[in-house]
Amino acid sequence: MDKQKNNEQAFIRNDQYNFIAKQVSHIINAHATVNHADTLDGVKLHAFSKVEEMLPEMTEAQETLLNRLLEIEEEMEAQAFLSELKQYVIPFRKVSKKTVEKLFPKAKKLQMPDLDALDFQRLSYIGWFDTRAHKQHLIVEYQGKLKGISGVFDNSSTQGICSLCNSLGDVGLFVTRVKSGKETYVNRGNYICKDSQSCNEQLLDLGKVETFLNHLFQ
Ligand SMILES: [Zn+2]
Repeated sequence: MDKQKNNEQAFIRNDQYNFIAKQVSHIINAHATVNHADTLDGVKLHAFSKVEEMLPEMTEAQETLLNRLLEIEEEMEAQAFLSELKQYVIPFRKVSKKTVEKLFPKAKKLQMPDLDALDFQRLSYIGWFDTRAHKQHLIVEYQGKLKGISGVFDNSSTQGICSLCNSLGDVGLFVTRVKSGKETYVNRGNYICKDSQSCNEQLLDLGKVETFLNHLFQ
């Protein structure tokens, strides 16, 4: 189900959707492993309180929707709930081929991302590898504006913690040149996931992305 509610009804970001999905998986795991009813209730309430903490300004309707989390017992129910919840995800800003070109004015023969293949509701950022330039390009939203960032990317396989999603996985060193003074630049390197799609699906806290961007744009 890829329908999308209008903007008024959409109220969670991709990272918040991931966070809720994680709480749902805690609940399912508890159902599979915990026999004691009180303990199980505790797990559920804890999961829900974490969601409430993340979304402190929920309307009554939003709370009713998310309350259903407490009734989930099995994987099938979880999938149905999450696919319904996806309609309430605010998509990443619309990006066209023209926008991409504008965001990377210095790139020669920029290799385009496959925009049609992207599910904008499941993105906190857009990332793709440019096989010609051996660069990873990122499109992010920073302080209300879309920004393009290109970095030399070491595409060989390394296991590490990604600076964007903070998960352990297949990462590469992403090296960008950032301004350090009026006319001076330094190279800054961060490990980020090689697979931007799975990174977006693992991202639980947009704050981490903001920290990453603050380091680049400060
Ligand atoms: Zn990542």
